[in-house]
Amino acid sequence: AKAWHLERRPRGLPGNEDFALKAIDLPDLAEGQIRVANRWLSVDPYMRGRMNDVKSYVPPFQLGEPMQGGAVGEVVESKAEGFARGDLVQHMEGWRDEAVVDASRAQKLPDIGVPEQAFLGQLGMPGMTGYFGLLSVAEAKPGDTVFVSAAAGAVGSTVVQVAKAKGMTVIGSAGGKEKCDWVRSLGADRMIDYKAGTSVVKALMEAAPDGIDVYFDNVGGDHLDAALAVANERARFAICGMIDIYNSAEPTELRYIARIIGARIRLQGFIVSDFLSRMAEFYRDMGEWTKAGKLQREETVVEGLEKMPDAFLGLFSGRNMGKMLVRL
Ligand code: NDP
Repeated sequence: AKAWHLERRPRGLPGNEDFALKAIDLPDLAEGQIRVANRWLSVDPYMRGRMNDVKSYVPPFQLGEPMQGGAVGEVVESKAEGFARGDLVQHMEGWRDEAVVDASRAQKLPDIGVPEQAFLGQLGMPGMTGYFGLLSVAEAKPGDTVFVSAAAGAVGSTVVQVAKAKGMTVIGSAGGKEKCDWVRSLGADRMIDYKAGTSVVKALMEAAPDGIDVYFDNVGGDHLDAALAVANERARFAICGMIDIYNSAEPTELRYIARIIGARIRLQGFIVSDFLSRMAEFYRDMGEWTKAGKLQREETVVEGLEKMPDAFLGLFSGRNMGKMLVRL
């Protein structure tokens, strides 16, 4: 088997030289383990944080060691009760073609009539992030005006659609006309193309003449500042991600941060794992909306394990529409 290893800790934007694809020896199965042939591997922005040697909510990748991440694959050998050859599972031994996994750390994919790779996107971690971040962290309600950044991404495109399914007004931002058109087709009421030249704050002031009640932050920086500028009194901000600064050492300068005080804005950070105990709710609603045809899914698929670092780096230049995936 082969796995991507972390070769160097990058400063700034990582490069291909920070990763190395090397052979790994997989052990014979112990009791309670399964062997999985991975079919789909996930690349996610949070993995950039794991390349740094800092304490965080997920431990850093270790230098010279295989990397981890979300994966969907087929069980090819099992010594675990309840798992048989041919079962499709998701687990966290990604960045490799084959894995030996403790069955207790793998989940069989529920049969809800969606393609298997959807469990790495809209019906998996990114989808849960959007759903709980919007409804539970930001307490978004029907009638609210919601602004969401990186709206054409895996998390953002879920936020847009959940918000529309719940009767909210949605303003999104994304880079480029094609992405903006796609997010509009998902139901977004107004879109900001932040690469079109106008500052985000000016564009948002125009797009949100009556202000916003909720901001779902995937970007940070100028997007967060713009959201602060137009936030209504007692607006709620779900601080999900700040991809704008993942590769930068410079803090971004916020001009409107003091509005938090006068406008009583509430900012709440969260990690998707805070909501693991509420998966049933997520599957209930998302399953219903999927059946009703209310949820669209888009994927950007990169072919082959060899291309995995390219897929990962593509997240930071916006090469993906919807969920970025690697297919083996
Ligand atoms: P996406 O599918 O949204 O991919 C990343 C997107 O971010 C790119 O497609 C790009 O779109 C946009 N982007 C990249 N760099 C910048 C930049 N400098 N400024 C503005 N936009 C940028 O990834 P995910 O949906 O997986 O993740 C979205 C966010 O959610 C990330 O910040 C991630 O860290 C966070 N997250 C947080 C979780 C939590 O538990 N708190 C869990 C999962 C994700 P474009 O072309 O529009 O620029």
